[in-house]
Amino acid sequence: MPELSNTFSWSRSRDHTFQECRRRYFYQYYGAWGGWEADAPAETRRLYVLKQLSSRQQWAGRVVHDAVEMALRAFAHGRELPPEPFIRDVIERMRQDWRSSHARRYWENPKTAALFEHEYGVDVKAETWQALSRHVATCVRTFFRLPLLAEIRRTPLEHWLIEYSSKAFEFDGTAIWVAPDFGYWTAEDRLVLVDWKTGASDPEATAFQLGCYALYANEVLKRPPDRVDLFEANLRQGVVTGVHWDDGRLEAIRERIRFSVRSMKVYLADPEANVAVIDNFERTEDLRLCRWCNFRAVCRPEL
Ligand code: SF4
Repeated sequence: MPELSNTFSWSRSRDHTFQECRRRYFYQYYGAWGGWEADAPAETRRLYVLKQLSSRQQWAGRVVHDAVEMALRAFAHGRELPPEPFIRDVIERMRQDWRSSHARRYWENPKTAALFEHEYGVDVKAETWQALSRHVATCVRTFFRLPLLAEIRRTPLEHWLIEYSSKAFEFDGTAIWVAPDFGYWTAEDRLVLVDWKTGASDPEATAFQLGCYALYANEVLKRPPDRVDLFEANLRQGVVTGVHWDDGRLEAIRERIRFSVRSMKVYLADPEANVAVIDNFERTEDLRLCRWCNFRAVCRPEL
């Protein structure tokens, strides 16, 4: 495989991939790079398509996040959305995506729905798919009923923050990707950042994620932690949990990110140019991770 280069940046999901398996990290952030080009080498293209695969749980989470974002944008434009017809539309789109993925259209168009279960022929019963669509409907329905949504809708539109997704900010010379799901300024001039969750809560992962939001608030919006409210809104359970931050915890997040960036760069053949060579990235010994890895067909086809 030829050496590849692109621009180094950091995100929480990148850190997670790096922690789980170095080889997967290589495929995801280096091997697949450029696979969107029409004249990309076949192996690069293959890695790029595999990179797009989502498990059914990830897919359901994405559908809910997209629905919530769509609803908030409709409210921002002054439109009312009767919940049940809206939910029916969401589920219908899900069905279309499922059919598209089942037909493996993602090999021609990698940005369309691509389910791991379809690519790897995982036997999923019809009841399981139906339960997944009920789960999505429940999450979206819960969103409409949240007192937090009522509060957001009472907040003047000019105090909403919904346009900052997919933005990077610079931290210690590295571009950091942090995308809070939603935010707004309260009447008391506090900043509220919200993370919509659709699965079971993982307190450690959530604390790190919200900590990254606190860093974003501090670095970009110049808000100290004691002026920021961080909320995890669990749409499965309808529970909103506040996470408290202070300067000490924020410093711990900075240290963790610095350590993560240093660790990733140690693996690079040329850290300045962000050049990676596959042989430097070892494969995990934990075969349970391989079972659900997008790149299994390339990396460990015998499994
Ligand atoms: S198949 Fe296993 S070793 Fe290979 S990239 Fe995936 S997780 Fe890593």
